[in-house]
Amino acid sequence: MATLTRHSFRCPACGAEIVVQGHDLINVREQPELKAPLISGELFLQTCPQCGRRHLVTWPLVYLDPDEMVLLMLSDKPLAMADTGGYTARLVPRVGDLIEKVKIFDAGLDDKAVELCKYVTKQDAGKPEADLRFLRLDGADNEIVFTYPAGGQMELLAVGFNVYEDCRGILARNPSVSGRAQGLAIIDEAWVSSLLR
Ligand SMILES: [Zn+2]
Repeated sequence: MATLTRHSFRCPACGAEIVVQGHDLINVREQPELKAPLISGELFLQTCPQCGRRHLVTWPLVYLDPDEMVLLMLSDKPLAMADTGGYTARLVPRVGDLIEKVKIFDAGLDDKAVELCKYVTKQDAGKPEADLRFLRLDGADNEIVFTYPAGGQMELLAVGFNVYEDCRGILARNPSVSGRAQGLAIIDEAWVSSLLR
C-alpha cells in the first residue's frame, strides 16, 4: 500500500512554495512502475507552480527490493538500524547516491567492491579527484562503466570486470571489512578511505 506524505519546499529561484506528495516507501515488487522515474531522477524533479522552473527535491524515503533483499534509506540524517532482517541495508544521503545504489544492485554487483573498484580505477587513470558513479555493465565482457563530471560534461571511464573481481577478492580476504558494513551502512568513498587507513 502506497503511503504518501506531504512535503513543502521553497523554490530557490522565486521563493514560492512547492508542495510534494512524496512516497515514504517504494517497494519495487509492489510498485514496479516507480522504478524508471526513480532511476532517471524524474521522481524527484518538481516544477515550481509560480516560475515554472524545475528543481530536485528530496525527502526521507525507503526503497525496498524484496526480491534482491535490498533496503536503501534516503536520508541526510544519521540513522541506526540494529536488525536489517537479512536485507543488505544502506543509508544514502543524496538522490544521486540512491540512484547509483539501485543500478549497482540491479546489476547484481556488490557495492563494497564497486566502491573499492572506483578507488583503484581513479588511481590507475590518474584522476584521484574524479567523482565516479557506476553507470552500467557493458558488452559481452561486462566492462564496468563509470561516469564522472569534467568540464561541464559527463565523461565515461570503463574498466575490465577483472578489476571488480580483484576488488571483491581483496574484501573477501579481509573479514574485518564485513564488520564495517553492518546494519544501515554508508558505503561510499569515505568508507573505502577508512579501510585504507
Ligand atoms: Zn519558483
